[in-house]
Amino acid sequence: MINVEGLQRIVGEDWVITKRDQMESYLVDETYLGVRPEPADNVVVVKPASTEEVSEILKLANRENTIVYPRGGGTGLVGGAIPTEDGVVLSLERLDKVEEVDKENLMVVAQAGVTLGQLIETVEDAGLFFPPHPGDEGAQVGGLVACNAAGTRAIKYGVIRNYVKGVEVVLPTGEVISMGGKLLKDNQGLDLMHLLIGSEGILGIITKAIFRLYPKFAGMATLVVSYDDRHEAINSVPKILQSGVIPLAIEYVEAKEVEMSAQHLGLKWPAAKGKAHLIIIVTGANEDEVYFQCEQISNVCQEYKAIDTLIAERREEQADILKIRSEMYTPLKPKIADALDITVPPADIGRILDEMDRIAQRFDTTIPVFGHAGDGNLHPNLLNDLLEKGTLKEVKREIYKATLNLGGVVTGEHGMGKIRLSEFDLCLDEKSRVLMKEIKRVFDPNNILNPGTAIM
Ligand SMILES: Cc1cc2nc3c(=O)[nH]c(=O)nc-3n(C[C@H](O)[C@H](O)[C@H](O)COP(=O)(O)OP(=O)(O)OC[C@H]3O[C@@H](n4cnc5c(N)ncnc54)[C@H](O)[C@@H]3O)c2cc1C
Repeated sequence: MINVEGLQRIVGEDWVITKRDQMESYLVDETYLGVRPEPADNVVVVKPASTEEVSEILKLANRENTIVYPRGGGTGLVGGAIPTEDGVVLSLERLDKVEEVDKENLMVVAQAGVTLGQLIETVEDAGLFFPPHPGDEGAQVGGLVACNAAGTRAIKYGVIRNYVKGVEVVLPTGEVISMGGKLLKDNQGLDLMHLLIGSEGILGIITKAIFRLYPKFAGMATLVVSYDDRHEAINSVPKILQSGVIPLAIEYVEAKEVEMSAQHLGLKWPAAKGKAHLIIIVTGANEDEVYFQCEQISNVCQEYKAIDTLIAERREEQADILKIRSEMYTPLKPKIADALDITVPPADIGRILDEMDRIAQRFDTTIPVFGHAGDGNLHPNLLNDLLEKGTLKEVKREIYKATLNLGGVVTGEHGMGKIRLSEFDLCLDEKSRVLMKEIKRVFDPNNILNPGTAIM
């Protein structure tokens, strides 16, 4: 039994939802329908307004053995925030303040429920730059840290982990601890903060984070490079990186899917030719530096069979291209059973695409792909026909095996969540799995926080 009265005493009656028809949006996330877990029947949603209230909720839950599911923006793609057992969904949405933009230390302090969109706007208004850009700006600070999200700009600046300098966390027992600070170096003891980053809500509830910021760059351009063949597009990615230029992003998209996304947004995809494209974003201290990089990249791509290159320099034009790329998931959704998140060493990206072609042929399907090619991180989309034929799992496992054989991982940025655990045995050795379980037990002795997620 969930202690609804106890929760109401902590947050006030208005902030506890018990009626099913008022909580539907808290029972799902953005996971594809073919693999999205079903929510449990008996769920209560609670919305605390402070770290102290989060702490009181967890003390109550821990005492009464009630399961708690931390929830951010619900943009996760692996079912992490879905309450699959009877319990409490704890939404951080009311912790929505950017507490400080510290221009002297180049840091921002934000509560867990601040959205990525809100964070970017506040930081840019202060004349600074927050580099990571996972595709959905509705994601919240707590969710970004809990998932160690990445997105399009990771090649040059790295994933969220590289930006988190401090976190405030409520442990499953209700104790509150702060880790790190506005520091660029911190070697005190074991690095618990980095254990929390990417822990998908199973070790503690993040209530606040401190992120490092960068000064705004002066110049930026976006290239769209087109190819007649997807292998040629992908094979030129390592060559660009080996040329010495490190772009802000190298994204790989296929014509059909990117045009669908543009149409869905009421925008026009700028490239007229080609079956596959690279979207390459370069930044620099001035226009000359940007221009030099564009020229160098363009030369490499031409050498590797690009058929056309266009350069967008106007801000709005560049923003539209990024928006079209970021929204690719949305119109594709009805056709897709599952979208994977495999990552291989960057130079092996062509090899994994070859493997996928072989697998597609064997199982008589097509596998559209897009992703963060510069990071070796691709999102193969497994279509609904595999659900109908009953071969979805088999195809997925084949792709995973090929990925692991190349020294890759089954998830580069989305996490294991609840839907990737059936592959846990494939991707981690026995001792690593045992260590992870032991760590979970130390943090959460009663296993109340987001069980059945991230590890098994
Ligand atoms: C269109 C689209 C594009 C996307 N593009 C990218 C991309 O490019 N790169 C990328 O990495 N991801 C991407 N994602 C996935 C998603 O946006 C990220 O995983 C994001 O970090 C999830 O944040 P959220 O606040 O929505 O978390 P939720 O979905 O609410 O939760 C995700 C997980 O984090 C846990 N959690 C949430 N808040 C907290 C907290 N405060 N404390 C502890 N645990 C918490 C939850 O329990 C759950 O396990 C995309 C998703 C969509 C829909």
